[in-house]
Amino acid sequence: MIHEIDLRSLTEQGWQRNNAAEFQKRKVRLLFGLGSIVLLIIIGKYSLPPYQKVLIGLIFVTMVGTVFLLMACKCPNCGAVPAGEAISLSSEIRYTKGVNPFAKRCGCCGFYLSQKYLEHRIEEENAKRSL
Ligand SMILES: [Zn+2]
Repeated sequence: MIHEIDLRSLTEQGWQRNNAAEFQKRKVRLLFGLGSIVLLIIIGKYSLPPYQKVLIGLIFVTMVGTVFLLMACKCPNCGAVPAGEAISLSSEIRYTKGVNPFAKRCGCCGFYLSQKYLEHRIEEENAKRSL
């Protein structure tokens, strides 16, 4: 069960916004790392043999860096890795799809990780109140 967050509180909204913004930064860095690897592989495919060796080295370094970025792609609040779709049949049997950088909320502390989703939820909360 994800712990419910009271988005009516402005202080809470601020915390959630900070958390989502920080996670967004980490996500962008990770995607940038993955993008560089793809780009370097494409360049490597079309470059001439003496340069290819340099590119292979660059790809390796970028891959190592990206692994670190992937490990840093955690919930800024509690440090849990946002897991992909989790199916839990019981408390012991659990199946996860691994790291999900596109998670909307942290499965551990319930903090918002997606800025878009957070703004959407705040709007919903405001709409409810103005009724
Ligand atoms: Zn968390």
